[in-house]
Amino acid sequence: MKIMKFGGTSVGRPERMHQVKDLITRGEEPTIVVLSALSGTTNALVGIGEALAAGNKTLAKERIDTLHAHYLAFYPALLKTAVGQAKAEEIIREHFEFLNILLKISFNEAINRDILAQGELLSTKLFYTLLEELEIPAVFLPALDFMSIDENSEPELGKISEKLKAILAKHPEGRLFITQGYICKNHRNEVDNLKRGGSDYTASLVAAAIQASVCEIWTDIDGMHNNDPRIVDRTRPIAEMSFDEAAELAYFGAKILHPASIWPAQLYNVPVKLLNTMEPTAHGTLIKAEVETTGVKAIAAKDGITAIKIKSSRMLLAYGFLRRIFEVFEKYKTPIDMITTSEVAVSVTIDDLSHMDQIISELQSFGTVEVDQNQAIICVVGNKVAETKGALQSVLDSLVDIPVRMVSFGGSKHNVSILVDAQYKVQALKSLNEGVFTW
Ligand code: ADP
Ligand code: ASP
Ligand code: MG
Repeated sequence: MKIMKFGGTSVGRPERMHQVKDLITRGEEPTIVVLSALSGTTNALVGIGEALAAGNKTLAKERIDTLHAHYLAFYPALLKTAVGQAKAEEIIREHFEFLNILLKISFNEAINRDILAQGELLSTKLFYTLLEELEIPAVFLPALDFMSIDENSEPELGKISEKLKAILAKHPEGRLFITQGYICKNHRNEVDNLKRGGSDYTASLVAAAIQASVCEIWTDIDGMHNNDPRIVDRTRPIAEMSFDEAAELAYFGAKILHPASIWPAQLYNVPVKLLNTMEPTAHGTLIKAEVETTGVKAIAAKDGITAIKIKSSRMLLAYGFLRRIFEVFEKYKTPIDMITTSEVAVSVTIDDLSHMDQIISELQSFGTVEVDQNQAIICVVGNKVAETKGALQSVLDSLVDIPVRMVSFGGSKHNVSILVDAQYKVQALKSLNEGVFTW
């Protein structure tokens, strides 16, 4: 069985949904199709939630109506028969009635998550209606029946696998299964989600849950590029990369993949393919356990980073000091991305600022604490890059005109991370593009 996940742009227009239908019906292998919301929908839903949170019901209503109009214009081009169109009208009516009811009740975070779930519910139901209209046999699999996260918002892979296998066992003849990306249930059994871009994570979790033969991520670009194509000219797709390389790139900002989307596939050694819905014959990127290539392969940047330096001439070399520092971050469930040490100070970076004040105040008991906000991590990734002659040199040479705040090298063989002020991010990405790739 294989997984095919289609992102927002891939389902964002009626003709694209038809293309998706062609792609999923080409092969013989039973397939679970994971769909995102239509492009723009989740952003619009976030906007509706924000208006409601601010108590601005007029604005929320306006935003609901705009989104509603988008769907009313979408379905007539998707479906041709009166029956199909009537079904779509009913789906759209039901979901927008739900959003309109929320205008009348008091708002809270659980309601916000319900709002965010509407996009994937709409896209999958409309797509399923298209398959019905074309008499393509398919099974509708509600993700809320099997996707779950625990109290720390971590996916419960064991439970997901058990539930999903039990559901699939009820459809032994099924060849095509349609489900939602992004959405799940939380430990309170409320509707929740896997964070923005989370449909990739769903695809990888589903792939791991059923030990799929392959997890195909269909998007709007021909694979993982060696640098951010939104920022840098002349980037090119990477034919092959290892799970480790892809995980570092996803985590450190390559938007094409959700930050956590590699580990489930890696755990069960399911190859991941990044493919282009608009250009299905392009090679794309194959992500698998081992690759032959070495040296710098790609660069990504992660914004919104805060650096914290703890200076303590007395304490640093005492054993247990780092543990006590890390315990503060652990207590507030705040992951550390980068870390560098000297004899008198330790610097770490974080991107979750929700407990910043408590963290700083506890760290102050160890020494002087300095905070730099608006930093960016530039992550240079490549199989064995740390062992490749001249690689570190070319990275540092490329950044000669940029003030570098931290460098992390040697933590893994595949990565060099550099922290710069966010204002230098674009310049750093461009200079590295010129300086480290030899083609
Ligand atoms: P989807 O809606 O299919 O999930 P996304 O917008 O989340 O698609 O991800 C695809 C986009 O990621 C591309 O259009 C591209 O602009 C952006 N992107 C950022 N960094 C990279 C990279 N290194 N390689 C490819 N695409 C990237
Ligand atoms: N629709 C969700 C988002 O826009 C999930 C996804 O597209 O992956 O973030
Ligand atoms: Mg995405």
